[in-house]
Amino acid sequence: MTKKYQRFETAVIHEGYDEKEMLGSLSIPLFQTSTYVFDTAEQGERRFSGEEEGFVYSRLRNPTVRVLEERIARLENGEKGLAFASGMAAVSAVLLSLTKANDHVLCSAGLYGCTYGLLTLMKEKYNITSDFSLLDSEDAIHAKIKPETALIYVETPINPTMKLIDLELVTKVAKEYSIPVVVDNTFSTPYLQRPLDLGCDVVLHSATKYIGGHGDVIAGLVVGKADFIDDLAITARKDIGGIMSPFDAWLLLRGLKTLPIRMDRHCENAVNIFEKLKGHPKVASIYFPGDTESSDGKIAAKQMNKSGGMISFEIKGSKQDAQYFMNRLNFIKIAVSLGDAETLIEHPATMTHAVVPEASRLKMGITDQLIRLSIGLEAWEDIWDDLEQALEHV
Ligand SMILES: *Cc1c(COP(=O)(O)O)cnc(C)c1O
Repeated sequence: MTKKYQRFETAVIHEGYDEKEMLGSLSIPLFQTSTYVFDTAEQGERRFSGEEEGFVYSRLRNPTVRVLEERIARLENGEKGLAFASGMAAVSAVLLSLTKANDHVLCSAGLYGCTYGLLTLMKEKYNITSDFSLLDSEDAIHAKIKPETALIYVETPINPTMKLIDLELVTKVAKEYSIPVVVDNTFSTPYLQRPLDLGCDVVLHSATKYIGGHGDVIAGLVVGKADFIDDLAITARKDIGGIMSPFDAWLLLRGLKTLPIRMDRHCENAVNIFEKLKGHPKVASIYFPGDTESSDGKIAAKQMNKSGGMISFEIKGSKQDAQYFMNRLNFIKIAVSLGDAETLIEHPATMTHAVVPEASRLKMGITDQLIRLSIGLEAWEDIWDDLEQALEHV
């Protein structure tokens, strides 16, 4: 199909869907089917051999899911996309496909708790080791690369410390060794940051977060080169089987249509809340990519269109003070996950990152006083009023 439009805001609504193939339906139909009928036994044979294009069985391909895969590929400026049952299904598929026993994975200085847990499992079962590094200079990256390093795996901003990784710097060094760079782009979405444009090889998402945006679906997405995605589709997805359900793809396509306008609001609200929290006497430190005075702020300005909707901050006091503060909130919800319409607050040390052993957690900057805030779509003045009254109680 020739593209009659250029921009992101149009692609989130139109990419990958041709209503002429779907009886003129404006809304993308939900293909809630497990299997597809062949005209003849011979056609079945041709479909299985790949000689003839077409649908066979929904673990392999589904028309609703396919629209989402084409759409996310275009949004990330990649060749192909692949959908998974969860963000972790996407993470595990990519990690398993790029590693073999005794390999090494170089990671950013912090990762989503379950990704950390998966790497621990891979070490125990397959002796696949991993290192965590700030990756903040060419020398620092060179120093961490070993002969058996199979990939570099980064989050930026890092969950939950909001530290930034300079993707151009990392890809520059990785290319010298021909090592692929994988980016978990969950916190930024392709609206704010497109790692493939910066030379990275694979992008993945927990689509549960901003891409879905409504707190009603668990899902994962991967985008990369066609040969990598084709291989991933056969091995890690068809044979391991963590596929996305058609209904979840349908919900995500619905959510995705408003991604740019939702993100604009999340970002604007977050800037306002950051300005208020920054100088508050009960706040010991604050981490936000929009902090232009920090070194991370400079990286953000270089590679992100806006600074996102996530803020982390440390409260002055103890773990109990942090929990007391959270309990005093009125409408802000205590919940993990992020990117929803509702403002959500969580305590990483005892929730999302409780699996990380204390020493590693503290090294990553996840203290007992650290609180992670996902700024929602409410009026920012109401969000601030709620935070402020709870801070006064600490
Ligand atoms: C939530 C999250 C994941 C895991 O995604 P699920 O959809 O919960 O499986 C991975 N990476 C990041 C950065 C996340 O926030």
